Amino acid sequence: MRVLVQKYGGSSVSTIAKIHRVADRIAETVADGTRLAVVVSAMGNTTNELLSLALAIAESPARRELDMLLSVGERVTMALLAIALRDRDIAAVSLTGSQSGIITDESHADARVVEVRPARVQNHLEQGEVVIIAGFQGVSRAREVTTLGRGGSDTTAVVLAAALGAEFCEICSDVDGVWSADPRVVPAAVRRDSLSLDEALALSRGGAKVLFEDAVRYARDNGVAIQASSTFGPGSGTRLRTTKQARQGAAAVTGDSGLCRVELPSADAPLPSLQGTGLRLRRRVGSHVWLDTRNAHGEAPGAPSAVVTAVGSGLGEATALVCAASEALAQSQLRVLLHGHEGDVAWWEVSPEDLDAATRTVHDSLVG
Ligand code: ADP
Ligand code: ASP
Ligand code: MG
Repeated sequence: MRVLVQKYGGSSVSTIAKIHRVADRIAETVADGTRLAVVVSAMGNTTNELLSLALAIAESPARRELDMLLSVGERVTMALLAIALRDRDIAAVSLTGSQSGIITDESHADARVVEVRPARVQNHLEQGEVVIIAGFQGVSRAREVTTLGRGGSDTTAVVLAAALGAEFCEICSDVDGVWSADPRVVPAAVRRDSLSLDEALALSRGGAKVLFEDAVRYARDNGVAIQASSTFGPGSGTRLRTTKQARQGAAAVTGDSGLCRVELPSADAPLPSLQGTGLRLRRRVGSHVWLDTRNAHGEAPGAPSAVVTAVGSGLGEATALVCAASEALAQSQLRVLLHGHEGDVAWWEVSPEDLDAATRTVHDSLVG
């Protein structure tokens, strides 16, 4: 029997009307007997709203309590969607992350999945039920509720797809797949039919919000193909393949404004431990270190930093292309603070206020 995992992001379930439309889409998917596990995000802006409730009480709320609070958002959606399906006479059951067997480490607010025990989900699937799972959350071995980092419902979907042996994992969002840049920032962006998971990982590490990096890394490491689709719109989306992709030039360009740059005392100084900070290492060049602050606990160190990243299989070695993009930035009077290229990636650090313009310029140069 065919097993699929679908994930619906926050904008796809932001209203009751949209939850009904998602229920209709699920009904179409299971009409041929496909067994379906569905992962849902919190409705619309709910996670931010819950976060601001906590911040209205305390400047730095305990991370354990934040996880108790934020995990509620996804649970609201899972129950509402199960109710909508049952109302259509489709057998459905909702489960929290913990009930679904998503076991994580102890790192509240940016927990990593360490094990998946899919037996309960499998039992429900075998009963012919659609299983609706609250994304973005798991449980630690100490039985504490944890969350997987912002955007972490993608991770829930991919780890379940791997554990269930799903044919692929469909990530459904408000955009038709992965584009050559965020279409909100670069109007000339085009949809990509396919990308390798290596390219997608470099793109999400470069700050593209469309897929969460932990999900893409897990998919790459465990051979899970991802289909990125539009929930409601037409379009054929993007296939993220487990195989390499031959490519001339860039697959996509992204900007990241969620970074800080920290200066170490010297080029050979050891990197301070990031454990427990929620900060992630992006790169180090000599004494300069860039950290991703998206899931940082408390104030980020160093100075805010912005980086444009272009991604494509072998792009970092295509020096003529990379030089042309650098030249285009210079001609547009966009000052580059630091620049590098290696492997599948080329990057330019720019002033935060220049980030969008620099992203468009690099896109114009490398994608057209
Ligand atoms: P969801 O709530 O469904 O998880 P997200 O908001 O996390 O959706 O991700 C979708 C958004 O990612 C899009 O609306 C788009 O603005 C942004 N985005 C950034 N880079 C890209 C890209 N290369 N291709 C498509 N969308 C992108
Ligand atoms: N609701 C969480 C967030 O806003 C997780 C997710 O949407 O994937 O980050
Ligand atoms: Mg997302």
